[in-house]
Parts: sequence; C-alpha cells; structure tokens
Amino acid sequence: MARYIEASCKLCRRESMKLFLKGERCYTDKCAIERRNFAPGQHGRNMARRRKVSDYQVQLREKQKVKRIYGVLEKQFRNYYVRASKKSGVTGENLLQLLETRLDNIIYRLGFAPSRKSARQLVRHRHIRINGKLVDIPSYQVCPGEEISVKQPSRELGLVLSTIERRGKQETVSWLSVDYKSQSGKLLEIPTREGIPIIAQEQLIVELYSK
Ligand code: SF4
Repeated sequence: MARYIEASCKLCRRESMKLFLKGERCYTDKCAIERRNFAPGQHGRNMARRRKVSDYQVQLREKQKVKRIYGVLEKQFRNYYVRASKKSGVTGENLLQLLETRLDNIIYRLGFAPSRKSARQLVRHRHIRINGKLVDIPSYQVCPGEEISVKQPSRELGLVLSTIERRGKQETVSWLSVDYKSQSGKLLEIPTREGIPIIAQEQLIVELYSK
C-alpha cells in the first residue's frame, strides 16, 4: 500500500497551518508550526516574500492541504473527486462527505485514535468491527446507522485508552454518537458542510480538477 513518507510536520509547514497529523503533539508548544512557521527547505524562510501567487497555485495548495489532512494519495483523491462529481448536490461538499465517512476518519472523530494515521493503523491491525464484523480497510465507506466498535480484546490497548482519556472529554461532532464505555459509536447521518470541522475552500479543488 502506497503511503506518505514525508515527515508530517513538514506537510503542515508547507501549507502554513496546523493539519493535526501527529495527535497530541499538535496541541502542545512542540508543534513545528508554533516554532518554525515557514516552509521547509533551504529557501523556506524567503517563500512568503515571493511574487504574487497564481490562481492555479492557490487551487493546488488547497487540494494538497485537504489531501494531507485525510492522508489520501493523489490517485485515490482524484477518484473521490470523480465520485463526488457524479453525485447530486454540491461537488465540493460531496467530496468532503466522502472523505469524512472513511472508516479511519470516523475512528479519529470518535476519539479512539489521536490522529487519522493512528486510526488507519488500528483498522489495518484488525482492531475494528463494523456491525460486529471485522473490517481492516481504512477507506471503507461507513453508512448511516452502522455501528463502529473496537473489538473486545483490543479495548485494553494503551493507545485507545489514553486517547479516550484525553479526547473523550471533548464533544465529538453532532453526526456521530459515541459510547466510550463500550468503545463504540455510530454514524447518525451524512454530515452537512457546516458539520465538518475542516478549514478548507473545497470549491477551489473543484475548480482545479474541472479544468
Ligand atoms: Fe502539524 Fe501536528 Fe506537526 Fe504541528 S505537531 S506541525 S500540527 S503535524
């Protein structure tokens, strides 16, 4: 399986914003954006002073940012766009809905893993069940009404317990229900754009791909 191998913090520095790729570290002053908020590389410090950026560059950066937030590679991301454009409704919103209802993202949103990357690992390592059946595909598209749970022997995993301990105190999104005692949750409905807490201008991605 292809995956990103570049250091997570460099991806945030490239986009000049926190993408929350590293779990708890992202909320501390060890975060690279807090300490070195300029692009990585030899000329990183000078990039902000460069000439005006083109529309294409703005669209491209927006696409890269969203791709990196969800940890999806180019080919798969484009496939999501194609699927989103075939659905009725607003393509940009459809795109975010598809990304948000990926199993790894739902595990992260439920507060069972500190980052989407860790959530992906939990799924890959066969710790997750959907409606009682084992699912080990991080891109699995969760449907409304499906119950996602950490399987019984894995409920003692330190990663899950410590994340619940820290993140369980925060409220999850309104379109998910969660029960930390049984380490399970449910997708109540497909989220609307307002319910997706991602700072992104998805319309720019649509403009980029529809050229
Ligand atoms: Fe990004 Fe988290 Fe690294 Fe900060 S600590 S730069 S938010 S991955």
